[in-house]
Amino acid sequence: MGTRGREIVGVDVNELIEELNKALADEWLAYYQYWIGAKVAKGPMRGAVVAELEEHANEELEHAGMLVERILQLGGTPILSPEEWYKATNCGYEAPSDPNVKTLLEQNIKGEQCAIDAYQKLIKMVKDKDPITYQMALSILEDEVEHEEDLEALSEDMGLL
Ligand code: FE
Ligand code: FE
Ligand code: MG
Repeated sequence: MGTRGREIVGVDVNELIEELNKALADEWLAYYQYWIGAKVAKGPMRGAVVAELEEHANEELEHAGMLVERILQLGGTPILSPEEWYKATNCGYEAPSDPNVKTLLEQNIKGEQCAIDAYQKLIKMVKDKDPITYQMALSILEDEVEHEEDLEALSEDMGLL
């Protein structure tokens, strides 16, 4: 933990670590929802949908890594047990029990919209108070906005929207 780096944070650090852990839980659940969704997907344009879901899965995992790095820098402990994910999550998890690509896309668009709201909230919390977390959250938000757009564009191409 960096002492001065922690001192310059202008918000309650424990509260911030809690928010970062909530986002970490969201990212792991989003990762698995995409990853397993890509495995079970069925229906029209399956190949294109699977490619997009796999790409997003990898990006959610990268987000999880960024969050853990920041939690550790702040002297916090990242969530260590998967059983904590459900307790901490903002956005929850939607099992792809209906493997049709239409349902998968709808579920994942909903997840991205929740992620956008969650990062927007985190950004408001740290704006002008913690430039490092701000920059990280902004960079993740950019990806989540892109994810939503990608999935909506795919749905549109498939005539689902
Ligand atoms: Fe993400
Ligand atoms: Fe995303
Ligand atoms: Mg994409």
